[in-house]
Amino acid sequence: MSLLLTTIDQSPSRVNLLSLDRQAMAGFFTRLGEKAFRATQLLQWVHQRGVDDLEAMSNLSRSLRARLHEIAEIRLPELVMEQGSRDGTRKWLLRLDSGNCIETVFIPEEDRGTLCVSSQVGCSLNCSFCSTAQQGFNRNLGAAEIIGQLVVAYRALGDTPKGERRISNVVLMGMGEPLLNFDNVVTAMNIMTDDFAYGLSKRRVTLSTAGMVPMIDRLREVNHVSLAVSLHAPNDALRDELVPLNRKYPIAELLEACRRYVAGIPHRKVTFEYVMLDGVNDSPAHARELVRVLEGVPAKVNLIPFNPFPNSHYLCSPPAAIAAFRDIVTRAGLVTVTRKTRGGDIDAACGQLVGRVTDRTRRSGRAPAGQVRPAP
Ligand code: SAH
Repeated sequence: MSLLLTTIDQSPSRVNLLSLDRQAMAGFFTRLGEKAFRATQLLQWVHQRGVDDLEAMSNLSRSLRARLHEIAEIRLPELVMEQGSRDGTRKWLLRLDSGNCIETVFIPEEDRGTLCVSSQVGCSLNCSFCSTAQQGFNRNLGAAEIIGQLVVAYRALGDTPKGERRISNVVLMGMGEPLLNFDNVVTAMNIMTDDFAYGLSKRRVTLSTAGMVPMIDRLREVNHVSLAVSLHAPNDALRDELVPLNRKYPIAELLEACRRYVAGIPHRKVTFEYVMLDGVNDSPAHARELVRVLEGVPAKVNLIPFNPFPNSHYLCSPPAAIAAFRDIVTRAGLVTVTRKTRGGDIDAACGQLVGRVTDRTRRSGRAPAGQVRPAP
């Protein structure tokens, strides 16, 4: 009985209103014969006030609410577990309709609070030092599943638009390659940067890519958020090994796309992420090569101590090697930050997010629409 009800209740023909940015939502209301400003009202209810009950939306007429009940819904990922680290980092495990789980991480710092969100279940890129690669690719997240991570975290942290806002920044650095799920990621980012929703400035939303060159150009056109690029090596031979996508889009092409991305915008820089792997990419010679290769690119460098995971065959560079590397790059005039490892005690650090692929029989396809797995 309850399964039957769930299935009816979550009919695939209903629009999940979480999946619509303002433009799409205005179109949705216009098609219903309503004024487009209903979109801003709805966005404010859901994303600013955290309300997901249509009945509580008092400025929508009774008849509109009844119509919405028939054709739409507001469906969030299910919060399965929350973990808190000694250092204040919090991690949420969320279950999706398909039964897959994803992880979202909040990292508080003195001057900011950063939410790290996932864009795919698993990843297809197979970077040799990343644990997400080991689980393979399962599927793209829908826009509702991407923005849903923000909705859940916003609520769990008690954020309100006029009160305390602990989430000041969002980074698309969780599981997956965001530029391989372009449309859904852009829709979700549009909601993040919309003043009628989360109102984050484009500088405070950062998309991290392993280097999908054609999509970098498209991103500039549609939502010019901050860009981070997972470089990890200063030459193609080494990068081919660490980030196999490099064989398709080698460093020179990637850096050209980065230059185009920030061209004409004063002070805008691309952040280059560089994971520090002992004896692999961390020598002074590598640092000097990195400086040469980044010449002429408005760049910041983010050194990430490697976070080990089961069956990883790399080790993290010793602190002295990281410091020496950083000094060389800094002396060349590039702002270089060594990222602190956060949330290591709850497996929330970079490259440690694995989520859980509960149904391995569908590793490479979308779940059939509407298939609903009841919570255990
Ligand atoms: N696919 C995107 C975003 C996800 S990864 C990208 O490649 O940028 C987010 C960052 O964590 C990337 O820079 C990634 O290279 C890094 N990372 C992955 N595994 C890691 C590990 N085990 N230790 C440290 N950083 C890691």
